[in-house]
Amino acid sequence: MSFKIMPKAALPDWVTWLKNRYRVVGPTARQGQYVFAEIASPDELVLDYPTSVLPPKKYLLPQRETLFTFDAQSMQMKANIEWEPTVILGVHTCDMHAIRLLDKVHATGYTDQHYQAHRQHTTLVSIECLSPCMEHSFCKSMGTLTVPEDYDLHLTDLGDSYGVDVGSEKGEALLQGFTAIWDPTSEDYQRINKVMAEKWPRFSYRLNFDVTELPDLLALSNNSSLWNELGDICLGCGQCTKVCPTCYCFDVRDEVDLSLTKGERTRTWDSCQIDRFATVAGGHNFRSTRALRNRHRFMRKGKYHLEAYGLIGCVGCGRCAAACLVHITPVDTFNELYRRHKKGELLEEAKQA
Ligand code: SF4
Ligand code: SF4
Repeated sequence: MSFKIMPKAALPDWVTWLKNRYRVVGPTARQGQYVFAEIASPDELVLDYPTSVLPPKKYLLPQRETLFTFDAQSMQMKANIEWEPTVILGVHTCDMHAIRLLDKVHATGYTDQHYQAHRQHTTLVSIECLSPCMEHSFCKSMGTLTVPEDYDLHLTDLGDSYGVDVGSEKGEALLQGFTAIWDPTSEDYQRINKVMAEKWPRFSYRLNFDVTELPDLLALSNNSSLWNELGDICLGCGQCTKVCPTCYCFDVRDEVDLSLTKGERTRTWDSCQIDRFATVAGGHNFRSTRALRNRHRFMRKGKYHLEAYGLIGCVGCGRCAAACLVHITPVDTFNELYRRHKKGELLEEAKQA
């Protein structure tokens, strides 16, 4: 829509200006790591953070959320749709792609009105990543190193200023009435071109094949012995899914108060990697081994989401690799499958199955 320049010196005033109108959250430093949290004061905001422990999806899908309350005597139920006008600052492009996927998932079939309420009242201010955030990230391989089309405001660090790309009316509203921004000069355009040209060589492709080959590779790997090998070392702890920006599975519970007359239905984050996740009526667990659960996770990331929603289910953030105590990583898993495929092993195992 438009492109503006904001001097870095004006950022604290802008954050304060936003805080008078919205709940403002962004990356903050906590005990050597970075977490998205509500910004009480502009100096808490760390826009050049490497990565965050949890992705900003927690503001769209809270870890625990009341879906509805009920009165057991009158049999009345009341939906609990909560939202708060929120600006999320400093969202990396991989997390923007993840939110794009979450948007699609929660608007397809049964629209999730709780997610929709949070999302509609949230404005995203993304930021261009100019160098890899950690050793485990592989965003360049997954095509998430640039911001997806449907951004609100997108910042690029130009040294003493930010380039501010306005991508939507919601984004434009964050600047309306704020005067410490101006139209770019030709020097500003030259600077942004230079910054963008310099960033790409800093990232490397970490998959040994093109990501478009991933769904077929996974289809061929259904009977691969690699899943048993991963299952043998996996702890089934679920950390990989807890930190993942594209995971959204949840558990539902009904909780009744002590008088047994009123209660609420809540949902909390769950993990397909935990043993009881796939246990259904009669005690049957349809994904009872860690091997099956690992296969399921990687199939979802590289194949199922693409088939169901047209978007890949992994954005290459690397958080799961950093969180896994036994070093199970998407890059190593996908590359190992590709290596076995090239040696003909996947085809052989498929024939023998
Ligand atoms: S699977 Fe891992 S690398 Fe991929 S989006 Fe999830 S946490 Fe990030
Ligand atoms: S974090 Fe690692 S050990 Fe834990 S469930 Fe995920 S893959 Fe298994």
